[in-house]
Amino acid sequence: MEKNRSVLIIYTGGTIGMVNDPVSGALVPIDFRHISDQVPELRRFGFSLETITFDPVIDSSEVVPEIWVRIARTIEENYDRFDGFVVLHGTDTMAYSASALSFMLQGLEKPVIFTGAQLPIGVLRTDGKENLITAIEIAAERIDGLPVVPEVCIYFENKLLRGNRTIKYSAEHFNAFVSPNLPPLAEAGLQIRYNRNIIRYPTVRRPLAVSSRFETGVAVLRLFPGIMREVVHAVLETPGVLGLVLETYGTGNAPTAGWFLGELRAFIGRGGIVLNVTQCQAGSVEMGLYETSAGLISAGVISGRDITTEAAVTKMMILLGGSLPAEKLSALLARPLCGEMS
Ligand code: ASP
Repeated sequence: MEKNRSVLIIYTGGTIGMVNDPVSGALVPIDFRHISDQVPELRRFGFSLETITFDPVIDSSEVVPEIWVRIARTIEENYDRFDGFVVLHGTDTMAYSASALSFMLQGLEKPVIFTGAQLPIGVLRTDGKENLITAIEIAAERIDGLPVVPEVCIYFENKLLRGNRTIKYSAEHFNAFVSPNLPPLAEAGLQIRYNRNIIRYPTVRRPLAVSSRFETGVAVLRLFPGIMREVVHAVLETPGVLGLVLETYGTGNAPTAGWFLGELRAFIGRGGIVLNVTQCQAGSVEMGLYETSAGLISAGVISGRDITTEAAVTKMMILLGGSLPAEKLSALLARPLCGEMS
């Protein structure tokens, strides 16, 4: 790798930098010096490596859209000075944050690689070292003078995944993330092998623009047999809820009961948006395949195809925040904006 590279590490918190609190014994995040002390290899990269640490550093369960805005602004403010960005982040909500950033950073032409760890960096068997070192390498990698992966990604346990296709699937294994509907963008073995047919490259060059307006009036409703009408009603009637991510069965199927479709119709009639995503980890919504999804089409529900719930929620928040006319909003929800659906 050439020497004249530069990577900015944005440290937001997460297990990678945690230590046990001396009083409670619980894991709490601490400053970046702790990480760099544990990874002396960082000094051997031979290119410029700078760090910005959030104050305070947090467990990612505390993430709110303001944190996404801070990450995006930090990238925007430093965009011209660095070849790539590594975001150190807790694993719990990493898939939400990476999804959000993919929609926020419009015109992105540089790598933004999220990573973290399942075991703190100070623990002998930590996965954090390899994750951090390889994430930095990927963030700095160029071919023919251009970044190899100009996307928002998650690097974890040897795999580089598109951020808005990724879900956290294991609370236990080092292999914590999967991207069930898209193969990895790269795999790290003896060499890092990039899957360049899948990586998205900008077709038109435009300056980076950050969308930072979120509308949090979004709900997720996961269907299950026996769900009470009162529950569905309460969610859809909650003041301020403008959009619903409906987690349906299989290829996007739901009960055909009149009360259920009636609740959806009434919500959509009041201007609400409903996006159909499947509860299955892999595969896609195909509305109309079964009679049990035909009613959703006629009620005005939009197909989320193979989008993850994480990407659906953040995409909806961003699009609703843009105060777009209803038709435009529905059209944008139904089609991929940055590789989040097939
Ligand atoms: N609770 C931690 C977090 O998300 C878990 C982790 O980082 O793995 O911040």
